[in-house]
Amino acid sequence: MHLTKLELQGFKTFAKKTQLSFLAPREDRKPITTVVGPNGSGKSNLADAIRWVLGEQSLKLLRGKKSEDIIFSGSEGRGRAGFAEVSLTFNNEDGAMPIDYSQVVITRRLFRDGNSEYLLNDSKVRLNDIQLLLAQANVGQRSYSVIGQGMIDHILVSTPEERKAFFDDATGVKQFQIKRHEAMLKLKRTHENLADVEMLLTEIEPRLRSLKRQASRLEKRGEVEAQLHTLEEQYYGAQWWTLVDQLEEVRQRFSTAESEIHTERAELKALEQEAEKIERTDTQEDTGLQTLQQQYRTLQRERNTLRDEQFKTEKEIELTKVRAQSNWAPLPLIKILDEVKALTTGLKGLRTIQALPEILKAIDALLHRSQDLSKRLERPNPQDIKPDPKLTKTLKDLKEKETHLVDQLKQLEQEIDSYATKEKTVRTELIESQRTLREKQTQIHLLENRRNTLQIDLARYEERQQNLIREMDEFMKDRAVNVRTERGTTETIGQEAYAEIQRLRYKLELIGGIDPEIIQEYEEIRERYEFLDVQVKDLHGALRSTEKVIKELDEQISKQSKKAFSKINKEFQRYFKLLFGGGSCALVNVTREEIDEDEQEGVTPERAFADTGEAEREKEDRIEEELEKHQSPIIGVDIQATPPGKRMKALNLLSGGERALTSIALVSAIMAVNPAPFVVLDEVDAALDESNTTRFANILEELSANSQFIIITHNRATMEKADLLYGVTMSDDGVSNLLSVHLEDVAQGNTARR
Ligand code: ATP
Repeated sequence: MHLTKLELQGFKTFAKKTQLSFLAPREDRKPITTVVGPNGSGKSNLADAIRWVLGEQSLKLLRGKKSEDIIFSGSEGRGRAGFAEVSLTFNNEDGAMPIDYSQVVITRRLFRDGNSEYLLNDSKVRLNDIQLLLAQANVGQRSYSVIGQGMIDHILVSTPEERKAFFDDATGVKQFQIKRHEAMLKLKRTHENLADVEMLLTEIEPRLRSLKRQASRLEKRGEVEAQLHTLEEQYYGAQWWTLVDQLEEVRQRFSTAESEIHTERAELKALEQEAEKIERTDTQEDTGLQTLQQQYRTLQRERNTLRDEQFKTEKEIELTKVRAQSNWAPLPLIKILDEVKALTTGLKGLRTIQALPEILKAIDALLHRSQDLSKRLERPNPQDIKPDPKLTKTLKDLKEKETHLVDQLKQLEQEIDSYATKEKTVRTELIESQRTLREKQTQIHLLENRRNTLQIDLARYEERQQNLIREMDEFMKDRAVNVRTERGTTETIGQEAYAEIQRLRYKLELIGGIDPEIIQEYEEIRERYEFLDVQVKDLHGALRSTEKVIKELDEQISKQSKKAFSKINKEFQRYFKLLFGGGSCALVNVTREEIDEDEQEGVTPERAFADTGEAEREKEDRIEEELEKHQSPIIGVDIQATPPGKRMKALNLLSGGERALTSIALVSAIMAVNPAPFVVLDEVDAALDESNTTRFANILEELSANSQFIIITHNRATMEKADLLYGVTMSDDGVSNLLSVHLEDVAQGNTARR
């Protein structure tokens, strides 16, 4: 690759469209072009133009204060230019620039309104693209491709870190450095994203934990509920269907008793009619007997009424027992706790032997109290339930009245019997009929008793059924209907099941109710957490792959720069000795540790007054720490130079000429090891004496084997090495003009061309 053309327009003193063509490489070496001319004619502006088109951003290096300073500012006889444009044309037939063009034109344009653009073969591109392309072709933009006037010893006065950048250019690792820089930016961005995502994760983690606890409580509640439901279905199912069967049986027995009574009553009626008939035929001869019989029947009716009342009272007593049992409710938990507390505190304070009698009394009282408590905790037995004393008294009175009536009836029977013996023959039939009647009545009475007992049972079972329905509906809600409609087992599962049901209900009460929205929120937050977690993993993956890229680039950079550095060091010593005729010099790598020792660590004012929060600062520190891990240990380059016969090594003790020679030796070493395709040197030989100028010119010739030189000089020895010479003059209107002289032509006596 070599430069074929430089075109300028509106750039500094080159107001007019001006073009510099360069010669094609010769077989043995590349061409040397020198630019000569009086002071202030605009020679350095040409070097500036090349530096500028290659993407230079430093206004200082371009010798301006504002970017528009590079546009022709006008003169007495000529107006200012509206824009500046510089184009460099390269022959890229060897493909040094990895781009599918054999000729590459790089153009930079700047307008007075500040708009600027870069073009690559007339297509707009970014500065970055140009820089990468140039770095790939080994054109060092910031370093030795364009060495400006008075800048040759710049490398000596710059800091070790600035020198490092220069050497990165020189060792050809710039292209990897650019890629590395991009990878580091990506690494930083990824670390920032990671820190943000991790911060979000830490923010939602406590909420997720609390929601998870609630969700698992709900899950536990579900388990307990399921257990309770199964048990309730078994327990109430068995209760219900046993009761249904019992009721059915009692109903059957009741209706059998009813129909038996019905038949017996019909028979009794027939017997009564027959007895009445006999009585009527017996005439009313014995009114005494009739009166007795009348009395007897009246007493019998009374007794029946008494029996009915008795039955009603008994039924009432039974029902009050059933109600008392079903209305029993367990003592509330809080009351139980209070009682237990009262029991335990009862004996507190009675600890001496003297208090023995009181202790015994207290123990009695406690026993009594605990018995009382346990009675209140157990469901009462029907036998233990005391009926209402009023009802018992009524029943007792009724029974006494009945006994009295039965006595009266017996007495009447005896009186009637005595009539019978008297009128034996006449009334045998009648008496016999009455006896049968009585027997029938006793039979009916027994049947009625049985029926009444069954009726009481029936009422008891029905009451129990109503209570069971209420209890089931209260606790089982809709499920109760299923249990009552679908026939299940009647196998009773015992009181333990009921105790377990109570325990599970209490457990549910302790767990308490849970808002179903919590579950929805839990699901949402969990999903978000998992999403962020995946992001963290992805970002870690991205970090690893970027770190791998950086590591690979570092290895490449380190390998290449180490190799080139040691070669440059060797060549530096060779050129140094050649230019100085002896002496010694060396390039030394400066490590981070060495710099850190010199620098005081502390809070910088920017950091101290930065308007960032604690968390944000912590995050920045962490990211910085992470990025520091990837910093190269070598951060600078030191130069040691000792001219022949001298002892000092410090660069600032060198004379102006010595500094120029040392710099030239170093730049030459770099060019020898890593030749740039072209190099612009602006009066680098200004400080050299005549013999050193000749040595320098020889070195240039040697280096031109690999690099194309454009040299601005006032030195004859340097000019003599040129294949093509450009003369720059300045006309009265402050505009630079060019004339070219082919040195071959000069040798043949031809004149210069404008
Ligand atoms: P020397 O041999 O003394 O180094 P030189 O030939 O290198 O001189 P330059 O430094 O290239 O000279 O040119 C400097 C001249 O260019 C100055 O006279 C300066 O006024 C002029 N100049 C710089 N910028 C502009 C501009 N934007 N418009 C017009 N003239 C400019």
